[in-house]
Amino acid sequence: MATRLTETDVVIVGLGAAGGVAALPLAQAGLDVIGLEAGTWLTRRDFAPDELRNNVRGWPQSVQKANREIPTHRPNASTPTGPRPAVHPMMNAVGGTTLHYWGQSWRLNPWDFKVVSDTRRRYGASRIPRGSTVEDWPFGYEELEPYYDKVEYEIGVSGKAGNINGKIDHRGNIFEGARKRDFPMPPLRSTDFLDKMAAAARTLGWYPFPGPASINSTPYQKRSACMYHGFCNRGGCHVDAKNTTSVTTIPKAQATGHLKVVARAHVTRLEVGGDGQVTGVTYLTDGQEYFQPAKVVLLASYVYENVRLLLLSNSKACPNGLSNNHGQVGRHYFSHNTLSLVTALFPANLNNWYGLPAQGVAVDNWADDNFDHTGFDFIGGGNLWVYSDRRPISAATMSTFGKTRSWGSAWKRFIKENADRTNTAYLQKTTLPYEDNSLDLDPVVKDPLGFPVCRITADFKDNDRKISSFVQDKMEQWYLAAGAIATQRGPSGTMGTSTHAYGGTRMGDNPETNVVNRWGFSHEVPNLGVLGSSLMGTSGAHNPTLTAQALAWRTADYLVKNWNAISRKRS
Ligand SMILES: Cc1cc2nc3c(=O)[nH]c(=O)nc-3n(C[C@H](O)[C@H](O)[C@H](O)COP(=O)(O)OP(=O)(O)OC[C@H]3O[C@@H](n4cnc5c(N)ncnc54)[C@H](O)[C@@H]3O)c2cc1C
Ligand code: SF4
Repeated sequence: MATRLTETDVVIVGLGAAGGVAALPLAQAGLDVIGLEAGTWLTRRDFAPDELRNNVRGWPQSVQKANREIPTHRPNASTPTGPRPAVHPMMNAVGGTTLHYWGQSWRLNPWDFKVVSDTRRRYGASRIPRGSTVEDWPFGYEELEPYYDKVEYEIGVSGKAGNINGKIDHRGNIFEGARKRDFPMPPLRSTDFLDKMAAAARTLGWYPFPGPASINSTPYQKRSACMYHGFCNRGGCHVDAKNTTSVTTIPKAQATGHLKVVARAHVTRLEVGGDGQVTGVTYLTDGQEYFQPAKVVLLASYVYENVRLLLLSNSKACPNGLSNNHGQVGRHYFSHNTLSLVTALFPANLNNWYGLPAQGVAVDNWADDNFDHTGFDFIGGGNLWVYSDRRPISAATMSTFGKTRSWGSAWKRFIKENADRTNTAYLQKTTLPYEDNSLDLDPVVKDPLGFPVCRITADFKDNDRKISSFVQDKMEQWYLAAGAIATQRGPSGTMGTSTHAYGGTRMGDNPETNVVNRWGFSHEVPNLGVLGSSLMGTSGAHNPTLTAQALAWRTADYLVKNWNAISRKRS
């Protein structure tokens, strides 16, 4: 029997990137918020610059809840599910995956909000890929701009603006949507190699610029600037220069006296009353069950768990899962195509033995709809990202580019000579939702509590693969222009468990095709909000987190302004 706790105004399930941001405006408005977080508090002392521990053994993800519920995956409904990866990439802790993420903090491009109408207008309706369920967002970039701005200043993002109120600055990204002011901090510093890549891009007539990062380039809000020692691309920062929500918005919300963080609280179910509204959530701590009543519940446990918890919270009134009477929970799922990489070999050392993946140079000429697609057979594109990050173990696994065998003394000689002469670009591409890509509950595989894990049925489609090939061509061209002596293309892979997952609780005005409305609240359960990239119906060609955080702030803002209309009244 669950212990019933005292009712609160708002419960947030998961205090990661999205939940950790939403807590701040709610607490500042004086609402009493309880953040139920499956993980625990980790601090800078928990993070060592240790490649073996972080990248190979996957600490701390490997010991946590997420790792015991890794989704299964099958490319389509007629194939069996394959073996699951050994480690879930996401994290359970206060601050969530922002503790060990790379920190690239991109806004989406205005085109990403209106892919359907812009494509129809510019190229004709036939150019929307067949089978895609893509919709325009219910609002445009301009609506989210003030929230992007709030988050950039609150958590701290470094970068260089390319478009302030329509005034283009070639030192930044000239393709970005208009922003009202520059970043709160200048970009992370460059390196000789990044400068060389930027110069090569210019010779091709492209526009290189430093990417935005939620990593301090200067001391910010009493936290240190980055030291560029690296080893944090699967680990946290030991000087708090990485702006995870556990050192930014969460402590600030706690300081208001209106946020209570309950760590090690594993939410298993959202509960619903006879009035069809959510009454609170049930959670487990050390095997003890608690019921936390709340007037409003915000679900912020990342895409797979958001969908799983809704599907597991079924009842007589909603036999197919909470907020799923239209069968939309789990639909419009996709994961960002970040595979199909390109690696290059240079004739001299690059001096990349330091730095971090958010320290780099980007080209957006081939992203989104920044170029004319008339002569192409795909829509969308990719962001080219070259960054500074090298670690000994990963360096030893470098490609030999077919120049020697991959064992023995010849191989050792090759690695010794070339380990600092190689570079792999990170290429993020437009990926779209499709009819037959979805999430549901696995009929066989269960977590240790006996609940089914999430099942991914999804694969990349023609449009996604054509973009990959096009973007790889562009990246090879860029490397060769910078003097590379060999390039190699990686495979396109499939849509398994992803760090950039989208959809499953998509946001839109039409309840027949979307789970939540334009404010992030359920079409069916008015006092239930959902936060995170599960709301997003397009990915664009950039990382998702800043957009998920801007949306989370907007949902929280809307809740504060409409508290009486949204919150549950006792019957
Ligand atoms: C190595 C790596 C690098 C990345 N780099 C970038 C990058 O550079 N830029 C970028 O934009 N994105 C990046 N990402 C992706 C980014 O981390 C995610 O987009 C972001 O963290 C998602 O935010 P979220 O709040 O939905 O999930 P999370 O940040 O993962 O937070 C979810 C929280 O919910 C908690 N939770 C889960 N289930 C429950 C439950 N049942 N009960 C209670 N609590 C629960 C979890 O413990 C977690 O704290 C990266 C991810 C990884 C793994
Ligand atoms: S490189 Fe920067 S962000 Fe990474 S651990 Fe060092 S100081 Fe922190």
